Amino acid sequence: MITTKDLQHLFALIAADIAAHRDHLCELDGAIGDGDHGLAMDAGCEASVKAVAALDPAQATPAAAFNTAAKAFLNAVGASSGPLYATAFMRAGAAVKDRPDLSDEEFLRAFAAMAAGIQERGKAEPGEKTMVDAWKPAADAALDAWASGASLLECFDLAERAARQGCEATRDMTAAKGRASRLGERVIGHIDPGAASAAIIIASIAKFVEQ
Ligand code: ADP
Ligand code: MG
Ligand code: MG
Repeated sequence: MITTKDLQHLFALIAADIAAHRDHLCELDGAIGDGDHGLAMDAGCEASVKAVAALDPAQATPAAAFNTAAKAFLNAVGASSGPLYATAFMRAGAAVKDRPDLSDEEFLRAFAAMAAGIQERGKAEPGEKTMVDAWKPAADAALDAWASGASLLECFDLAERAARQGCEATRDMTAAKGRASRLGERVIGHIDPGAASAAIIIASIAKFVEQ
């Protein structure tokens, strides 16, 4: 069972991993965007982990933790990633309803809801050089594996791999959404920063599931 206390730990893991990659994410965004992606994700994750850590895990449901993270992330981030991740966390909260703690399947559904939320909010399709190119294959891989009887650990191992491959594949794409879409062919050869941070977050979640 995954509790609110576990989710507090998950948000701390994500924030630490994003902080460690902050400068690299800014460099990636500097090549095809405005250079702030590492700062935006670091600020959003930092605000989320603080707000979630302030909850009393004996009182707050997992849904409350996700909704708290959503609000904090949105308030802390002015960049496009703000509303995208706020929607992701809100969808995760809605997916787990008022459950006091989460089964493996409920946690997996929350993860898939994050990916779907990002896609609906940003209206990006796979292949448009955005974070969707990491989130969607990761969610699909995890859901497919779950449907064929894999453990949560195996599902997230596959999700992590799919996210990494999806991120790597953005290198050869032109962008159809976001700032990079104004640069045409010039963005070919560069990884999408949002896909890179997504792969980091999904790897953090996989690490959390392993623990
Ligand atoms: P900004 O471009 O406003 O500075 P960020 O630098 O935080 O925002 O985030 C840029 C990332 O946001 C891009 O690399 C891309 O992955 C993602 N992104 C931009 N627009 C969309 C969209 N419509 N749908 C999904 N992801 C998007
Ligand atoms: Mg940016
Ligand atoms: Mg910006």
